[in-house]
Amino acid sequence: MTHHQPRFIFVTGGVVSSLGKGIVAASLGVLLKSQGYTVAIQKFDPYLNLDPGTMSPYQHGEVFVTDDGCETDLDLGHYERFIDESLSRVNNVTSGMIFWDVLNKERNGDYLGNTVQIIPHITNEIKHRITQTLITYPVDFVITEIGGTVGDIESLPFLEAVRQFEFENRGRSVHIHVTLVPYMEPSGEFKTKPTQHSVKDLREIGIHADVIVCRSQYELKREIKEKISLFCDVSAEAVIACLDAESIYDVPMNMENEALDEIVLEKLSMPQRPKNLDLWHSYVKTIHQKNLPVIKIAIVGKYTSLSDAYLSVVESLKHAAAANTAQIQLIWVEAETLQTEDPKFVLSDADGILVPGGFGDRGIEGMIVAAQYARERKIPYLGLCLGMHIAAIEFARNVLHLGNAHSTEFNDATPYPVIDFLPDQRAVRKKGGTMRLGAYPCMIKSGTKLYDAYQTNEASERHRHRYEFNNHYRDAFESNGMIFSGTSPGDTLIEVIELKNHPWFVACQFHPEFKSRPYRAHPLFKDFIGHCLTQMTGAVSDTRTAFDKA
Ligand code: GLN
Repeated sequence: MTHHQPRFIFVTGGVVSSLGKGIVAASLGVLLKSQGYTVAIQKFDPYLNLDPGTMSPYQHGEVFVTDDGCETDLDLGHYERFIDESLSRVNNVTSGMIFWDVLNKERNGDYLGNTVQIIPHITNEIKHRITQTLITYPVDFVITEIGGTVGDIESLPFLEAVRQFEFENRGRSVHIHVTLVPYMEPSGEFKTKPTQHSVKDLREIGIHADVIVCRSQYELKREIKEKISLFCDVSAEAVIACLDAESIYDVPMNMENEALDEIVLEKLSMPQRPKNLDLWHSYVKTIHQKNLPVIKIAIVGKYTSLSDAYLSVVESLKHAAAANTAQIQLIWVEAETLQTEDPKFVLSDADGILVPGGFGDRGIEGMIVAAQYARERKIPYLGLCLGMHIAAIEFARNVLHLGNAHSTEFNDATPYPVIDFLPDQRAVRKKGGTMRLGAYPCMIKSGTKLYDAYQTNEASERHRHRYEFNNHYRDAFESNGMIFSGTSPGDTLIEVIELKNHPWFVACQFHPEFKSRPYRAHPLFKDFIGHCLTQMTGAVSDTRTAFDKA
């Protein structure tokens, strides 16, 4: 049921960054949804880039892609996985977008000769974006997370807009401030001062926090909550603890135990309804089971020290492990090491090999070694986007004997461009938002491993790439044991390739990792892990020995 008067929830953070505001916001979304309310979540990012599409994964982590082809902050991935809704381009707003729109209006003469200023022009644009999501999603609750930390210069226009909005929507908006309450081991004390200062900073801006969520290592005693309550003008009930959790998927239930949803609903004069969290409870129960089989997956990529670069891939593997009642252990392999070291040593522990998406030529040859190792040793392989290009290049070089076969992304002069530019990408010079982006249908051939996974002939998956399989090589691939199990409608573009004589070697042009949910693992990840598990139980040991002898 959609309420005629939507309610607005704002989430800001103080003291330090990386507090997990996004997880708190998403967890609240889960709890509200579990009561049958409809929820949209959005992230406002104070940086000037139009979107994170052009940012280095080192600085920003993964770029998450929505169905409608927007390159967004990785928090949108958490939101989608938690509230199980497909979000869109309206749900990630950056300062860059706000300024861009205001400056374009100025050039159009829309401000009729007025001086264009942060207040009111930028703040009006921000306020417009707060409610804009309601056009696409006429929901009961709009949760807006403001990126950055209170006190940053960049976030000031956003906070000013939120202040105005809360004033204009009194009774229909609530402000949650997430802070850190550090525990000093030597003196055995919790420190509330950073929280006090952060709330004071908010007050200076004119914002009154209604709920304070305290990230903490240990349980917060009543007296600590009372102290924060006294200094921060918030009732002790509305000071809630968010303890470090073993898994991010524990947080919705932890927040439920602290009654976050009840407090928020009460403040917004909305009724409590019966909750249904069965799917979450059973998922969380599985991930905490002891003595589950441990499946080791080697992720062979470019960014291995920073797992945030492949956040959705890692989460999808976790979901898939739970769906197989197993646990996952990641082996991070810096692709470049396979250019100098023997894969037999580097990959010997891996039950499955995954080559994720990526850009740039560092480590490419190492990824090709990994694909060859998986193909020849019959180890389950999952290739995602670039990982599919890699599988095609390896097959062309080592099975079709097309020496120097390559993707024109990495070698423009290759005699065998098995992966080439999308025809409509040739003239594109700009880098931002110019790829084949977002959801496209994929037709699935019956009788293939792909079909076994999906159990249907059509799926929708998200894309983010410029290059793809060169149709000129279709016949050669097919007559040598490669199956094109997924194509675009009309059989125009290759979406999925898989090996005929291999237990499970599947590589796709799209990014299935963006659509996996904790209690609804993505079919490709689920089957990948399923086959790793089957092989682990011994069936494959003979093949490995044969390869060693060869
Ligand atoms: N770099 C490749 C391309 O642009 C692959 C992109 C990806 O893996 N997301 O086509």
